Amino acid sequence: MIKENIIKLKRRIPSSITIVAVSKGRTMDEIKEAIEAGINDIGENRVQEALAKYYQLPEVRWHMVGHLQTNKVKEALRIFDLIQSVDSLRLADEIDKQASRINKVQDILIQVNTAGENSKFGLKPDDTVEVMSEIAKFKNINIKGLMTIAPIVDNPQKTRPYFRMLRELKDEINTLNIKHTTLNILSMGMTDDFAQAIEEGSNMIRLGRAIFD
Ligand SMILES: *Cc1c(COP(=O)(O)O)cnc(C)c1O
Repeated sequence: MIKENIIKLKRRIPSSITIVAVSKGRTMDEIKEAIEAGINDIGENRVQEALAKYYQLPEVRWHMVGHLQTNKVKEALRIFDLIQSVDSLRLADEIDKQASRINKVQDILIQVNTAGENSKFGLKPDDTVEVMSEIAKFKNINIKGLMTIAPIVDNPQKTRPYFRMLRELKDEINTLNIKHTTLNILSMGMTDDFAQAIEEGSNMIRLGRAIFD
C-alpha cells in the first residue's frame, strides 16, 4: 500500500518538489517501505520518537516539523538536517548556542502562523521580518525558508490565501537583502491541501496520511 501510494504521488508531483514523509506514530517497517519506494526525507513531530527511529535509519534526511521546546534542542541538533518549526527568537538563540558547541550550522525554516490561529505555533506574519532579521545574525543558523500549516477547512480551495501569503512573504524578504539570507524553501501543503499548496508555489510538501494510510 505505502509503495503504491508513493508511486502514484510521484506521478502527480513534479520532481522539483521535495516530499517529506511525516512518520509520527508509524513503525520502522512502514518508514523503511517508504524509503524503499524512493522517499529520502522523513519528518517527525517529537524529538524522542525521532531519536529512536534515526539511529536505525541515519542515511535519510530528517526533518523536525513539530513544536520544539528549548530543553530538547541539544538532542534535536544531533539528528535533524532541517528544523522546520523555528517560531521564536528564544528558540533560535538556543539552537545557535547549542549548534556552536558542536560546530554545526543548523538549517532551519521559520514557521509562520499565516491564519493567526491561537491553536497553532508560528510567528505572526507581521512580526516575521523583524524576528528573522535577528535570527539571521546567528552564526550557527542558516535560514533556508518558511513553513506554514494551513487551517482545517471544509474545502481545500480555502487554504489558498494562506499559502499565497507565505509565498508573498518569502518574496518580500528576498528583496530586503537580509544578511546571509536567501529563502528558497516554502514548506507548505499536507495530505488534504498539497495540490493547492503546489499551485501557490510550494516546493516542499509534508505528507502523512497520503503516504501511510
Ligand atoms: C502530521 C503532520 C503532517 C502530515 O499530515 P497529513 O495531513 O497526515 O498529511 C504535516 N505537517 C505537520 C507539521 C504535521 O504535524
